[in-house]
Amino acid sequence: MQYLENIPLSTLTTMRLGGLARYVVKITATEDLKQAIQFAEERGLPWFVLGGGSNVVALGDYRGLIILNRITAFKKLREDSDTATYQIGAGEVWDSVVERLVQAGLSGVEAMSGIPGFAGSTPIQNVGAYGQEIADTLVELSAFDSSSQRLVTLSPDDCAFTYRNSIFKNPETRHHVIVSITLRLSKIPMQPPFYPSLQQYLTDHQLTDYSPAQIRAAVPAIRAERLPDLNYLASAGSFFKNPIVQASVAYELLRRFPDMPHWEAPGQQFKLAAGWLIDQAGLRSYSAHGLQIYPHNALVVTNISAQSGEDLLLFKSEVVAVVREMFGITLEQEPETLPS
Ligand SMILES: Cc1cc2nc3c(=O)[nH]c(=O)nc-3n(C[C@H](O)[C@H](O)[C@H](O)COP(=O)(O)OP(=O)(O)OC[C@H]3O[C@@H](n4cnc5c(N)ncnc54)[C@H](O)[C@@H]3O)c2cc1C
Repeated sequence: MQYLENIPLSTLTTMRLGGLARYVVKITATEDLKQAIQFAEERGLPWFVLGGGSNVVALGDYRGLIILNRITAFKKLREDSDTATYQIGAGEVWDSVVERLVQAGLSGVEAMSGIPGFAGSTPIQNVGAYGQEIADTLVELSAFDSSSQRLVTLSPDDCAFTYRNSIFKNPETRHHVIVSITLRLSKIPMQPPFYPSLQQYLTDHQLTDYSPAQIRAAVPAIRAERLPDLNYLASAGSFFKNPIVQASVAYELLRRFPDMPHWEAPGQQFKLAAGWLIDQAGLRSYSAHGLQIYPHNALVVTNISAQSGEDLLLFKSEVVAVVREMFGITLEQEPETLPS
């Protein structure tokens, strides 16, 4: 294993910001992972596992070891008349995994086509799109538990998946490095009713074939209208969380803004659309400090020419302040900030 030194974090994260990582190592086996953690701990350094860096923003330097998990595997474990179960290495590129499963005629992840990043990152925030999420197909995962120094197998219940959340996002329960995920796919295609924007696309194009291949062909076209192509534009996808507010707050806002989109959430709360709030606050396409609100989707921030994490912090604070001024709501950042 090669420990590279002083590597720009902009090359490891899709927002393409940040300073230098003190050390970076690529691991391709569980044994490498143990050695890498030991390397960091012997030097009293923190370590951080990175996949494709599409849900992490780097602001400054990282003084520890970045571990790039590139453990590959793609193995059919079982098959019966209705399902097939695959074990997939954490270091497999997620969209290639989807492609291979779709080619095998299997359903369960086809609507999650085009999500950037690696397979091992999908359980972290229970990734999902267009009506599918990883919790629907995950049977178990294998992870190195750094607190016990042992390989463990976790069930979906252990992972405590909820909407874009799991135990892996909680700092207190976050001591697992995922090595592989096991997914059970179905031989029966998705059936309507579909997620609204997917249904709209199928209706508009008069498509009645719901095969995994057809859904996989439709999804990138829908995504392209709302999300930047990372090959051309730096971004961390949705940059602001959709705020959850108390019912009384939502009712008061609805009195002032009757058209405001809102959805009921558990605990007598409502979920609001951060993108709508940003748009209504007059920030559509807002650009400053080298960053821009993506014109096709106000939830997304793109990095046009920002030079530093400071630029991002300034941009974010301006957007947050304008939205707070108008709606009294403080938007929160969705992607994780790499600690320093
Ligand atoms: C343009 C764009 C579109 C997106 N669309 C979607 C979408 O439709 N749906 C959706 O849910 N998300 C979406 N995302 C968010 C992101 O792609 C997903 O969260 C993805 O799973 C992150 O993968 P990654 O490999 O880049 O993870 P990273 O950003 O590298 O890491 C994310 C987190 O996972 C941890 N991690 C990574 N690998 C491991 C491992 N093996 N073991 C333990 N922890 C690990 C990291 O430490 C970090 O906390 C989008 C992002 C972008 C930029």
